[in-house]
Order: sequence, then C-alpha cells, then structure tokens
Amino acid sequence: MRPALLNPLFAPVTSLSGVGPKQDKLFRYLLGREETPRLIDLLLHLPASVIDRRARPKIRDAVPGTVVTLEVTVDRHRPSPPRNARAPYLVYASDDTGDVVLTYFRAKADYVEKLLPVGSKRYVSGTLQMFDGVPQMVHPDRVVDEAGFAKLSGIDPVYPLTEGLALGSLRRAIAQALQKLPDLPEWISPEVIRRCHFPPIKEALNRVHVPVELADILPDGPFWSRLAFDELLAGQLALALVRSQLRRPAGNRHAGDGHLRRKIIDALPYALTSSQREAAAAIAHDLQQPLRMLRLLQGDVGSGKTVVALLAAAAVAEVGRQAALMAPTEILARQHIKTVTPLAERAGIRVAILTGREKGKERRDILTRLEAGEIDFLVGTHALIQDDVIFKSLALAVVDEQHRFGVRERLALTDKGEAVDVLVLSATPIPRTLVLTYFGDMDVSELREKPAGRQPIDTRAVPMSRLGEVMDAVGRAIDKGKRVYWIVPLVEESEVMEVTLTDAEQRFASLQERFGDKVGLVHGKMRGPDKDRIMAQFASGEISLLVATTVVEVGVDVPEASIMVIENAERFGLAQLHQLRGRIGRGSEASTCLLLYREPLSEMSKARLTVIRETTDGFRIAEEDLKLRGEGDVLGIRQSGLPGYRIARSEVHGQLIAQARDEALRIMKENPKLTGPRGEALRSLLYLYERGEALPLMGAG
Ligand code: ADP
Ligand code: MG
Repeated sequence: MRPALLNPLFAPVTSLSGVGPKQDKLFRYLLGREETPRLIDLLLHLPASVIDRRARPKIRDAVPGTVVTLEVTVDRHRPSPPRNARAPYLVYASDDTGDVVLTYFRAKADYVEKLLPVGSKRYVSGTLQMFDGVPQMVHPDRVVDEAGFAKLSGIDPVYPLTEGLALGSLRRAIAQALQKLPDLPEWISPEVIRRCHFPPIKEALNRVHVPVELADILPDGPFWSRLAFDELLAGQLALALVRSQLRRPAGNRHAGDGHLRRKIIDALPYALTSSQREAAAAIAHDLQQPLRMLRLLQGDVGSGKTVVALLAAAAVAEVGRQAALMAPTEILARQHIKTVTPLAERAGIRVAILTGREKGKERRDILTRLEAGEIDFLVGTHALIQDDVIFKSLALAVVDEQHRFGVRERLALTDKGEAVDVLVLSATPIPRTLVLTYFGDMDVSELREKPAGRQPIDTRAVPMSRLGEVMDAVGRAIDKGKRVYWIVPLVEESEVMEVTLTDAEQRFASLQERFGDKVGLVHGKMRGPDKDRIMAQFASGEISLLVATTVVEVGVDVPEASIMVIENAERFGLAQLHQLRGRIGRGSEASTCLLLYREPLSEMSKARLTVIRETTDGFRIAEEDLKLRGEGDVLGIRQSGLPGYRIARSEVHGQLIAQARDEALRIMKENPKLTGPRGEALRSLLYLYERGEALPLMGAG
C-alpha cells in the first residue's frame, strides 16, 4: 500500500486548474505516459534551460539579442490603424537614456491600454532587438508594475515541451503542483546527506523549478543531483529487493553429470567459441552452487547465446528438472525453438513451444505434459507466465532480452518453481557502467567473439538520390540467388498504425512491381501465422527479397541472407542499426549493408552512420552511442537520460550510481524489511519513482 502521505502527489494533473482534456493529452505525450499523468510526473519533469531576466540595463546599454528587464515610463500608444489590422500596435516608452518600442501583433487595444497606461512606470522583460536602429521588444514576456516586479523571478525555467503545449501553461501547472508538495520524510541516510551535501527533497524540487541561480538547474548541481540520487537509489533498492527475494538458497543443486551436454556438443555442426565454453562452464558452476544463480549472458547478435542457454537447460535436465526460456516476441521464441529442437532431440531432451498461438487442445496437451514432467525445456513468450502453466519441477528460467520485461514478468516465471535459477540473455550490448543500473549485481558472462567462419560485413552509406542504383544492385544480387532484407522504419510506434505502415507497404509495392513474387513483406501488425509463413518462405529461398519493418530486429536468423538495405537509416539509433545489421553476416558468405539516407544529414546522424560503418563490435557501438548522445539512449528507448530513468544521467551522475548501490546494500543489510520510520520513508521513495512493484515481494516466500 502506498503511504497516504503521497496521495496529493498521485492526484491526476487534471485536478489542477487550467488542465483539461486537451492538456491532459499533451501532458501524456510530453511525459510519456499512457494514462493521465500525476502531479509527481510533472514535478519530475525538469527544466532544460532557463531564461535569465536578471540583466537590468538602461535602454542605451541593452545588448541586442539578449533578454533584459527594463524599467521604463510609458510615453504614448500607437494602435494599429483601423484599416490595417495586420500592422502592429506600438507602445513608446523610455528611460533617461533612450527610447524603446514595445510591439504587439494582433493585440486588443484595451488589453494593451490596461497593461501599459500612458505615464505609468513599468518593468518590461523580454528579448531586445534593434529595428531600423531603434531598440524594440516584440511581445515582452513580462510587463509588471512596482509590486509585480518585487515578485518577478529573475530566472525562469524553460522545459522540454511538445507541440501544442505552451511553456506558460506547463509552468502554471508545475507551480500548482509545487504547492501541493507535502513534507516528505528523509529517506537518505544522514551520512550520505552529509557526504554529498544533499539538500532536502522539498528544497531540491522547489529550487529546480523556481531557480534562484542559474546553477540551480544544472544536472551536476546539488538540487538535480539530489533528485538523481533518489531515483538511482529507488532503482538500486528495487533491484536489491528483487535480488534478495531471488538469492535464497536453492536447496537442490541443479546441474547433473554432463552426459546430456556432451551429446549436444557432439551433435553441434560447429565448435563452441572459447567464450561460449567459458559461459557454459560459469553457468554450470552456478547451477552446482546451493545459492540461486543470477547471471547475465551478454552477447552481440549472432554470438551464439541460444546454444549456451540450451546447454544450461541440458544441465538441469540431467537431474530430471525442467527449464523454460521466455522471449519477448513470438518470432524470437520460434527462432529459439528452431535452433534448439534438432540439438535437443539428439540428446533426448523434450522441448515444446508455448505462445499465444497455441490454443485449445494443443495448448492443453502441452500443459498436461509439462505438469507431468514430460517436457524438459519449454520455450515461449509471455504465455509462459499465465496462471495455468504449471511445471512439474522448474529449476531454470532463461529470460531473453530482459529489459523488455518488467520486474513482475521476470518474477512470475521464477515463481513457477522453487528457488529457480535465473539466466538472462541480452543481445543489446550494455556498457559495463550501465550494467549495474539495469541488472544490479548480477554475475556477467560475455560472448565477445564471433563464431568462427563469419565473414565481415561491408557497410556503406548511400544517399537516397541513388535509390535507382541500389535497386539495380539488388536486382543483380537476386539474380545470383542472394537473399536480401529491405528495412523500412516505422515512423513512431505510438502513431496511428495505418499511417506508419504505408512506407513499408509502398516500398513493397514498388519492389514487387519490379521483382514480382520474389518479394515478401513482414510487419508487426501481421498475424503470427502470416508472419511465420513469409519468414519461412524467406528462409527457404522461395522469397529472395524481404521488405520488413523492425520486426526482424531481434533474433531472426536466416544465415543465407547476405544483403541488407536500410532505408532512412538516419532515423535509426545506433543500437537499432547494429541490431538490424546483425541479421546478416551470419552465414559463410561475405555480406553487404547499405544505409540509405535522406539528405541533409544532421551532425548526429552523420556521426552515427560513421560509427556503424567503422565497426561491428556491439560493445564499442554501445559505448560510442553513449558518448554521442551524452544522455545514453543505449537501449533505444525514447526519452533523455538513462532509459527508464527520468532524472539521472549516466555521464553526469555516474559517480552516484555506485553510491546509490552501496546505500541500497546497506539498507538491505540493516533493514531488509523496510520497517520503522526510515523504512516507511524508503517505501515512499520507491512509490515516487515507480519502483513500488518491488515491494510486495518482501512478504512473499
Ligand atoms: P544470438 O546470440 O544472436 O542469439 P544465436 O544463438 O541465434 O545468436 O546464434 C546465431 C547463429 O550462430 C545460429 O545459427 C547458431 O547455430 C550459430 N552458432 C552459434 N554458435 C556457433 C559457433 N560456435 N560456431 C558457429 N556457429 C555458431
Ligand atoms: Mg538469439
């Protein structure tokens, strides 16, 4: 239960005055939420910059192009001529050094008259410009009298906005939200507060939104840092809570004598790479330990994680226990089962697949066999965590691409057995500095080498103006029997699907016109069976040119495909380009990747295309990505900052990650049940940063 103290912060933004349905929609978009945002979401939306109004020059000394606050006397008005409403309404004002013209377009006369009465003294603040040698201010941001000036903030925060949302209305909403901020208990320990010089939370929030100094809104300043630390602490504490739940003694040892693993290795048409062997050994060792395994297996696309996962499953099958592998998409799940089945059969390991597509009798049969222990290794999607999926004795949960799953989903799978060992596969190379943030203190194995025999990929950037040549080249490749991916971006997941698909569909149509029925199309909105059919046709060579949206991004394995065209490559992030390109260069043939881009290229896009041309090392690409963005959109998730983090930034707050981790560990040691006043405060923290889902676990088991 969320502490009642927090209720005001969880009120919907629509409870604020001036926030109606239209604003609600804009705020949802701005704050990246599907539901109506709460006040806390507004408060955690921090300024990107400020307008400094503190410069108070005389008119003569005001620097054109800068924001100034002038103290003036209003001399006369020149309303727009009646016949020419488009001409501006001008107000002439002055101080003892010169004149300034205040310009209003489409202004109501009575409004301006009231705002700037002739003969009165006013403070006007805005950007000063020179127009025909005369100082001018178009639509001053602020016009106040003496009393208003006393209250005028010298520094106005400027927030990231979204189209249609005015800065003023966002500011007014945030100001109201600040009023509702309750007194929150301190959740950070006194030592850390002292060591880091953190201000109290309330002060931190107030100062970033109502800055007194420019430095108040800097990410490395004390106020922002305090908030970043809170967010990181919430993240680390949630991880620690989950971990403490998982890290209970396993009781049984889960690895057998190796007889099944040997059969699989003997059946492999290739030799394991040395990092695959090392990873398999580390996993076997973990499975032998009385503690539960929590291991991350990181490896670039195509580095061969699946077979390592299979060896882990074989190890538990050797002692008669079961394993499950959960993948985020159906395509991926089917890919895994395809890789695994022939090898597993040779070793007598019984595998099955369970996704949303297995229904009725088929599904019932699978569930019956699973419960009877007649399936050793079950591969699937979210369908695995449904309540009626019951294992006879699940010992190992393998979760692929885990950042796509929430804490709950991950745990739901491990809850299906007792003291289940956990192996996480990630094809998204994450720089070491970030592993901690997302996975906490997991053991890590990395598959750094590519399997032997892989050919390098020749990657080139080609402007869209040469589309014709690219088509010709693709035509020649198809004639030679080669297989080609043609990737078309989805504009934005959240946009209306009909709109987004047209690019892919149009490209499909134009390629089909030229290459006939050698062309296929897959996209995310297709039904599973249709997708599979097309993928199978591409895998078998019936289709040689596959137009696809990013559904082929993860896991899809057609080793014969040796050419990839990525259209609008400038729209993709580095990580995504890397993932996509990983679909080729998997066979024995030399591969080519053509990055088709539209001109002009932004500096950022140019830099990205350069990196992707220069290297295929996913870890290097992830590091470059982090550098380029500064704000680390490494996992390809929109939003600035660390993905999943709103305030903390890897570059600025890197130091704080380790400190937050230490603090979380100390809390887990001293007060693992989060009791007493400090425990209560920490619960509040978890809720504020949406890590509350880690809490109910404490009661369980
Ligand atoms: P990923 O790490 O992307 O999941 P996969 O496990 O799907 O990679 O492996 C990609 C391809 O490489 C598969 O076709 C697999 O059979 C093959 N493969 C895996 N390990 C090796 C190896 N040591 N040598 C050669 N091919 C391998
Ligand atoms: Mg894979």
